[in-house]
Amino acid sequence: MPKALSFFRGRMVPLEEANVNIMTHALHYGTAVFEGIRGNWNEQQSKMFIFRMREHYERLHQGCRIMMLKIPYSVDDLCRITEDLVRSCGYRQDVYIRPLAYKSAERVANLKLHELDSDFALIVVPFGAYLSTDGAIKCCTSSWRRIDDTIIPPRVKIAGHYVNSILAKTEAILGGYDEAIMLNQDGSVSEGSGENVFMVSGGVLYTPNVGDNNLTGITRDSVFQLAEKELKLKVMERHIRRSELYLADEVFLTGTAAHITPVGHIDHRPIASGNVGPTTKKLQDIYMGAVRGDNPKYLNWCSPVGLETW
Ligand code: PMP
Repeated sequence: MPKALSFFRGRMVPLEEANVNIMTHALHYGTAVFEGIRGNWNEQQSKMFIFRMREHYERLHQGCRIMMLKIPYSVDDLCRITEDLVRSCGYRQDVYIRPLAYKSAERVANLKLHELDSDFALIVVPFGAYLSTDGAIKCCTSSWRRIDDTIIPPRVKIAGHYVNSILAKTEAILGGYDEAIMLNQDGSVSEGSGENVFMVSGGVLYTPNVGDNNLTGITRDSVFQLAEKELKLKVMERHIRRSELYLADEVFLTGTAAHITPVGHIDHRPIASGNVGPTTKKLQDIYMGAVRGDNPKYLNWCSPVGLETW
């Protein structure tokens, strides 16, 4: 039977025992950096394929540098700890892997990062689809503007800045949409609440620059590579205006949780036919093969974990 385990305070423990004190700094101030990694279960091979784990931990380390979080684990250590935990949990279904580096000091009323102790924890939970998988989703342009790098750097996953995404996502869902697309203060397109955004126009694939307050998305990078290598598409990073999305041939979102999700409507306007576009469909098919370890060309993106047999 699968076991709900976590890595907490330097060792593997049952998830229910991985608890922090109410005084914990990160709980009050969002002083943490996290990652979202997918383990994709391959039934034929009876293995879990962890997608681009190293890149996720490199981004975690970048966030730790910004937030002065000192954790005693290298990227190699983190990959090993993750593989061990995934193997020990033994889930035979897709999982979400959540590493968390956080200010563990049990101190309130202290706003000095350099004075606060840090720790690292890791959890693994079963996880299915994040956004609808049948057809294209409906998005709104959020009334919440994207936070700027001059406010809290959005290029890494700092816990506190997710309040921005959470306000946008909540507004979208309560308004009857599936997802929010946020604009920067200057009105240019930034990203979804938990996804990067792409548009296809005139046979070119466009996405905003990371400097437009995007997370440095790992799925975004995977799509760059697949589009160029497999579809021979030109990929361009540039400012995108809201009205360009309305008039695009195709729009889609990318993210670890969302994979590649087609967008059919934005602010009640259909994007082209309002259905899944042909380029989006091709990218989705290649990407899903790659993340599940079924495409030998992209096995270097996957860390296969064989499970203990019981
Ligand atoms: N933007 C935001 C705000 C996100 O939370 C995520 C999900 N991590 C993404 C983009 C997509 O990034 P990735 O492809 O690395 O998961």
